Amino acid sequence: MSHPSVSITCICCGRQGPHQARRLIVACYSHHRTHGTLNRYPRAPRAELWIPTTPKGRRTLARYAELIAAHVSPTRIQWELSLSERQRQRYAAAYHHLQNQQDRSAA
Ligand SMILES: [Zn+2]
Repeated sequence: MSHPSVSITCICCGRQGPHQARRLIVACYSHHRTHGTLNRYPRAPRAELWIPTTPKGRRTLARYAELIAAHVSPTRIQWELSLSERQRQRYAAAYHHLQNQQDRSAA
């Protein structure tokens, strides 16, 4: 998600300017996109990661994980769990976050 009107200090050159993405100002973002070097600047992590804490939320997340494991399509998962598109994305983000944590502790 980009916020074109937000002024930031660019992590590439240290200048103030309008934020494009990846904590780069518009000029630097275009430069790196043109030169194929955007991958030097990882996408900024989300400010807050939502993890369900209520019993219902945890049940839904567990069910989400089951459906993902069963290769159910996102549209179908959304319908099965009666979620809005935004809610499904939140569960997806929480699920992937927890998966990554498990992968790291297993390694
Ligand atoms: Zn810059």
